[in-house]
Amino acid sequence: MAQIRVLPDRVANQIAAGEVIERPVAVVKELLENSLDAAATRVEIEFSNGGRSLVRIEDNGSGMRPDEALLAIERHATSKVREAEDLLNITTFGFRGEALPSIASVSRFQLKTRTPLSQSGTELLINGGKLIHVRDCGMPHGTRVEVAHLFNAVPARRKFLKADNTEAAHIIHLAKVYAIAHPQTGFSLIENGRMVFDSPACPSLEERVREIFGPVVVDGLMAVDEKDGDYRLRGLISRPGKGRSSRHDMITIVNKRPVTSSTLNQALIESYHSFLPRGRYPQAFLFLELDPKAVDVNVHPSKREVRFREAARLRGFVIRSLLQGIRSAAVPEVAGAGAGAGAVLPVAGEAGNAAPQPPFSAPKEGGRGRVEPDSPGYRREARSPTKAGATPDPDWNVKWRFLGHAQKGLAIFDAASGIILFDRRAAHQRILFEQLEKQYRESNVPAQQLLIPVPFELDALGSAALLDHLDFLNANGFTIAEFGRNFFRLEATPVWTSPEEGEALINDLVGLMKAGTISKNKPLEAFNQLARLACQRSVRLDDSVSEKEVIELANRLLRCKNPLLSPLGKPTYIELGRNELDRRFFRNSAPSGNLW
Ligand code: ADP
Ligand code: MG
Repeated sequence: MAQIRVLPDRVANQIAAGEVIERPVAVVKELLENSLDAAATRVEIEFSNGGRSLVRIEDNGSGMRPDEALLAIERHATSKVREAEDLLNITTFGFRGEALPSIASVSRFQLKTRTPLSQSGTELLINGGKLIHVRDCGMPHGTRVEVAHLFNAVPARRKFLKADNTEAAHIIHLAKVYAIAHPQTGFSLIENGRMVFDSPACPSLEERVREIFGPVVVDGLMAVDEKDGDYRLRGLISRPGKGRSSRHDMITIVNKRPVTSSTLNQALIESYHSFLPRGRYPQAFLFLELDPKAVDVNVHPSKREVRFREAARLRGFVIRSLLQGIRSAAVPEVAGAGAGAGAVLPVAGEAGNAAPQPPFSAPKEGGRGRVEPDSPGYRREARSPTKAGATPDPDWNVKWRFLGHAQKGLAIFDAASGIILFDRRAAHQRILFEQLEKQYRESNVPAQQLLIPVPFELDALGSAALLDHLDFLNANGFTIAEFGRNFFRLEATPVWTSPEEGEALINDLVGLMKAGTISKNKPLEAFNQLARLACQRSVRLDDSVSEKEVIELANRLLRCKNPLLSPLGKPTYIELGRNELDRRFFRNSAPSGNLW
């Protein structure tokens, strides 16, 4: 019969190492966290060959006395948690007391440390978990840990490591994330003897992001800072319309600890839903502060994934806070920028400026296929708004300076912040969409009565679907009468479509109803579908549009609630920012002295 016995420490450490130290980046993380826990204001990280041959971390933190240093390499020795109760209230990175002995059990581990009060430092050398020597050494106060030949003696683990480049990429990313989380600590990172970044203590998060990610990234960001009870959320997040192609640029920090949290990531993605084109993700450097008791960091030994005690409340708070910032920024920054000739860009919602919305002049460029509401043969219902408000207010000149037309329906503007490439079609669609939305909300959808109603027939399923949705269609400018089994009569259409297209449109709509995409149980979603269809079908571009019309179009777009995207999720304009231009033309590089 097998005997039960307590594992020798060395074996226990190697087993724990399998959990805590999966790969080189985990070594960097543990050592870095120890340095931050020791209140270092400067940390230097060096590694070689993806961390396999060397990881060295040096800090100017509290250091350890000789007895403390010896204790530190004992299993479950920690200075950070004394009672089980402390586990509910963790404010330091470390608390398990496993990292140092685990790392030392699978590498050649050298620790040198000195407290500000000690005369000399202490040096410990451990190889594969075996203590080789302890002796005095000279060094400045702080701690320096050097981990060499990681996993050399553990072939099974070595085999699972990826290429050096991959391991290196993980380490670099980790170092950047921690540097972001601690702007007031100086960080430098050296790979294979080469400096990756060297960022002194920074006065602000923005400075740190600029140092590490560059000015172009900073340009695409805006600040948020919101509070609710014991929650506080602050940081830098993508300006609306300025997302990234990868979902990995969301850095979230909870009580100074970089974490991954599906609650936070989902809240971020959701908040940007209608403010970024499809397939784009927000970039974020987001700091959440809350009572340490409300977050469980003890889910996994690597402590990266956290859980929140009141996830639903937190999620609501995060989304509200983000939306607050995103919405206020959705009015483009051109608003106050530049020294325009007295031209003031209207800010959405400024009642004083808001002339009545002109009815459907969005498709004004239209022409082919679309019938002007006023054209002979079609009577417009009296409740539809009049055209009186369509004259542009002369003050409403975009401070963008119109430069010309290009490519397919693009207009180009010059602005203080850069060059604007403006998609006229997408702009028209956005304007039309918001008009429809307003009319729908106010139950004031203008319709055009057909002099000669259009009869049409549907199959049994289609007919059932249509009957089910008659109220919905009637509320959106259609009048449809049933006059026999599966036979209908189209008597009025919304003004955004032409009567000739009415029947085709009904067929499209019935298709969406059959598919469940339009459902009377979800009236808002159904409206959105209909309005998108309207935008797709009714906006056509005219090549001979005048400068004045384009400027008016831009002004109207910028008055929209969400001017950055078309209702179909495409950008309405793209900005080539000044920094981006400077970067591409190397305009900021130091003058070489001799310009010729
Ligand atoms: P934990 O961080 O979970 O406490 P570790 O094994 O990482 O466990 O470290 C053990 C102890 O060693 C820490 O509690 C701390 O007291 C001490 N220590 C480790 N690294 C440092 C450092 N860089 N500076 C000062 N003390 C340190
Ligand atoms: Mg630790």
